[in-house]
Amino acid sequence: MTDVGIVGAGAGAAAAAFVIDGTVPDADVTVLEKSGGLCGRAATRRHDDLTYDYGANYLKSDDDRVVELITETLDDEGLVEVTGPVYTFDADGTVSPGRDADEHKWSYRRGLTQIAKRLFGRTDATVHRRTRVETVRRVDGAGDTDGGANDGDARWELDDADGEAHGPFDVLLLNPPAPQTAELLRTAEWDDPLRETLVEAVGDVAYGSVWTAVLRYPFALDVPYYALVNTDKEHPVGWISREECKAGHVPDGETLLVVQASGAWSTEHYDDDPAENVAALANHAADIVGDDRLADPAWTDHQGWRYALPDAGVDRGPVDSARDAGLYLLGDWVAGEGRLHAALANGLDVGERVAYGL
Ligand SMILES: Cc1cc2nc3c(=O)[nH]c(=O)nc-3n(C[C@H](O)[C@H](O)[C@H](O)COP(=O)(O)OP(=O)(O)OC[C@H]3O[C@@H](n4cnc5c(N)ncnc54)[C@H](O)[C@@H]3O)c2cc1C
Repeated sequence: MTDVGIVGAGAGAAAAAFVIDGTVPDADVTVLEKSGGLCGRAATRRHDDLTYDYGANYLKSDDDRVVELITETLDDEGLVEVTGPVYTFDADGTVSPGRDADEHKWSYRRGLTQIAKRLFGRTDATVHRRTRVETVRRVDGAGDTDGGANDGDARWELDDADGEAHGPFDVLLLNPPAPQTAELLRTAEWDDPLRETLVEAVGDVAYGSVWTAVLRYPFALDVPYYALVNTDKEHPVGWISREECKAGHVPDGETLLVVQASGAWSTEHYDDDPAENVAALANHAADIVGDDRLADPAWTDHQGWRYALPDAGVDRGPVDSARDAGLYLLGDWVAGEGRLHAALANGLDVGERVAYGL
């Protein structure tokens, strides 16, 4: 039996678990996820008859292996093509027909979380939700803290926030955003100089925040676009999209806007009163779309994403070296692009490396 531990159940982790489970016959995969859901920042909520993606808004078809995974390997029932183009707006809120380079924009009738649900669902992995990993430990065969990356019998153990130990694992995968992975490595009980090199490299990857408002209206919007993106990065709003452009998400004749504030606005207002933030973003949406009714939503939801999007990728040298110790880091920040397809592609890649290494 090869014991594989995975911290985090994001898209990257789900893709890696899928590959490992499918290619390593004796792999026993255990996933520890701090939240109650799967798929991390590709997040979906339901409310009454609404379904909405309030983190990543869609999956784009930029990577052949991911396209094959989504359209051929996995069941494509319920996969929906997002209809309508993406227009742009500038600092003044002026809207223009814009770039729409993406060939396909996908979600699912039941939302983007289906990606991780379907991937994990195809495995025998044990997924523990609401289980936050607090301590990572490298132990030798006798169970003592161990330093040697080259020590063949050393394995990994994890402690969760309730004080429960998990493992030992022959291989450990860390999927949280870089700042959270850096913290796990900083406090890890692992006496190896590589740990410090890793902490430095991973800690260098900064993330921007995004504050999201979800706004419901009992009327349809007559506009020619699915979404609006701010191209000059000078507006308090970065993105506005219409969930009704995804089949099965919004009842006919209604509107559900996902309004994502810019990085600068999100950082400045991150801890402000959510009701005030929602009201401010609804006012901005009304101005940009040019419809005063949007300032007064019938129902709202919101989410602050402290670690929303990585500014850059990690220095791959230390990340690659960690494999010698059975430690694999994965996610959008390892891929070097804050995109769902990039996290999935990286997860497939890391899954194959783990399988090869075993
Ligand atoms: C607001 C927003 C909008 C976006 N828009 C788009 C878009 O339109 N298109 C696109 O392609 N991408 C978009 N993205 C980016 C996309 O969501 C991410 O790139 C992708 O989902 C990252 O997946 P991942 O596997 O790297 O990590 P994550 O999804 O971050 O998964 C990591 C998991 O680790 C868990 N975790 C963290 N710490 C611990 C711990 N200590 N113990 C246990 N579990 C832990 C987290 O709860 C999470 O589930 C957006 C992101 C945000 C936030």
